[in-house]
Amino acid sequence: MKPDAAKSVKLADNIYWVGNEIPDDQFQCHVYLIVNGEDSVLIDPGSRITWSETRKKIQEHLPLESIKYLVCHHQDPDITGAVDFLNREAPRPDRVIICHWRTKALVVHYDWKLSFYRPEDHDWQLELPGGRQLQFIFTPYLHFPGAICTFDKASGILFSSDIFGAFTEKFKLFAKDESYLEQMRPFHEHYMPSQEILNHGLNQIEKFKIRMIAPQHGSIIREDLVQPMMKALKELDCGLFLMPGYQKSIQELSKLNSLYRNLMHSILSGVRLLDTVDKTREFLTAIAPVESLFFYTWDETEMVFRVGGAGNDTKKSLGIQVDALRNTDLFAPLFRDREVISVFTDKLPGLALPETRNICLAPLATHGSLPNGIAAIIMKSGADTSAVCPFLDQIRPILGVIAKREEAFLTEEQEREQFYRRAVLDMLTGLYNRYYMSTEGVKEVQKAMRYGYPLSGIMMDIDHFKTINDTHGHPAGDTVLEEIGHLIRKIVRDVDLPLRYGGEEFLLILPHTNLIGAVKLAERLRNQVSFHTFRPSGVPIPVTISCGVAEMENEDTLSNLVKRADVQLFQAKKGGRNRVSFEEYRKDSQSSEHGIEPTD
Ligand code: GH3
Ligand code: MG
Ligand code: MG
Repeated sequence: MKPDAAKSVKLADNIYWVGNEIPDDQFQCHVYLIVNGEDSVLIDPGSRITWSETRKKIQEHLPLESIKYLVCHHQDPDITGAVDFLNREAPRPDRVIICHWRTKALVVHYDWKLSFYRPEDHDWQLELPGGRQLQFIFTPYLHFPGAICTFDKASGILFSSDIFGAFTEKFKLFAKDESYLEQMRPFHEHYMPSQEILNHGLNQIEKFKIRMIAPQHGSIIREDLVQPMMKALKELDCGLFLMPGYQKSIQELSKLNSLYRNLMHSILSGVRLLDTVDKTREFLTAIAPVESLFFYTWDETEMVFRVGGAGNDTKKSLGIQVDALRNTDLFAPLFRDREVISVFTDKLPGLALPETRNICLAPLATHGSLPNGIAAIIMKSGADTSAVCPFLDQIRPILGVIAKREEAFLTEEQEREQFYRRAVLDMLTGLYNRYYMSTEGVKEVQKAMRYGYPLSGIMMDIDHFKTINDTHGHPAGDTVLEEIGHLIRKIVRDVDLPLRYGGEEFLLILPHTNLIGAVKLAERLRNQVSFHTFRPSGVPIPVTISCGVAEMENEDTLSNLVKRADVQLFQAKKGGRNRVSFEEYRKDSQSSEHGIEPTD
């Protein structure tokens, strides 16, 4: 049955709720009375606007003069505002304020002329005449540095002040079910400084055998919900960063908090900038007419990349150095003042941005360092940036860390690529080396065997190369090798593996190519070399090559294929050089039927 909020509500023997229902206020204000004869206690006395109702409800049980103790869990006006009224209407010289010294330091300024009982000086408890024992729990920074809670041992009621409080849309004295958490969530995220501090307080509270929680705001939590709500609060992340000059509803701040949490998680879990773009954009589009969000970031070589953007969540090099941005009138202030700016896209030519849009730009930097990225939010046509600029300003320290790490990622990726190229490429010819053959070449042969497609090899060797060296010098020989490497690279397909096999010997591994195709390729190459003008030191040098071609057979290996191609190369040399030689007849490739003739 719904309790009648016009009257006091009994919570336990001699304990009553004496607050009141404030219409259209999600910030309800609860006051509790412990009836104990002439030593009765009022817990969190209430505000000036709740006093008349509270007075009435107290008087259902006792005259105001019977209230000796006023427990002030902290000093907010919705707790202490009523004290003046009570003192004026029912003065009592021996009345006592129970509060922590930090609270006392502030409330003395009300000049109530009452004495103070500081729990920390009394072993955190108070024994009332008749034997009722109140225990006080220090819960620092929840939400005031000197915040305390009160536990009544006899009833097991915890008067928790702001902890377990909530924003309730409608007045509801008792929490209905676990959905109360959703009302506690924004309240705590907003009021409590951090999960760690909240947990510290909850750990202190948990030492008591609690049967009911009576907070100052929100709803009273009955026994069956005490444990679930305690557990839920412990897992709650708190501590909203406040947004200066940026009025937002608690719900929006709460959403913002969840984004903040996500971004923090990104940092901790090593997530890339692109993932961060996704999360942040999702949030942004929910709060403002945002068209796209992306980042400019740069690597160690200062090349600028764009990460993210409308429908194009990729990383793309802009092909410019960061100086090109830094030296423009528009971007210079970002680097100099490191402040968020709002401009019109028409003033940012050359960056491939949509025209006539407002754009918010924020330089990203880790503490004390130079900016290492720029976050950009493009608004939809006609929309201004006022809703997103302060927001971007708030989250940019986090984005700065992520951008910094992206820079490291980019640099590392480039280095890895470079190391890899160095490891697998022959520097003179730009072809793959023997190491690559022993790994990728072997794999290619295995793949062809497994999937049953043809694969051929061409072994080629420069004719009389020793003479070229001897006549024109070693450097000229090098240039010939280099140019032949270039000719080979031009002629092969992407899937082929052209290798420098040895000094002036080359091996071409050709997947999906049978003997006929390979011979044709070898012929083309032989032709091109013989017609190419090599002129490394001004004098034209005639160069020819000889090739041996073989196609893979069943159960073949790469070394076997190379051996057979080498036999054919020997035949080509023996036959007079500048020619292509291949195995005369193979039943599977039926080369003779396709009109391949030896090139003698
Ligand atoms: P053949 O037509 O029988 O192949 O005769 P050849 O002179 O080309 O063959 P040989 O194997 O006798 O000589 C190969 C020469 O290639 C010898 C070696 O000094 C030269 N050579 C190997 N690697 C390089 C290199 O990287 N640069 C230069 N300039 N010469 C190289
Ligand atoms: Mg040779
Ligand atoms: Mg040779």
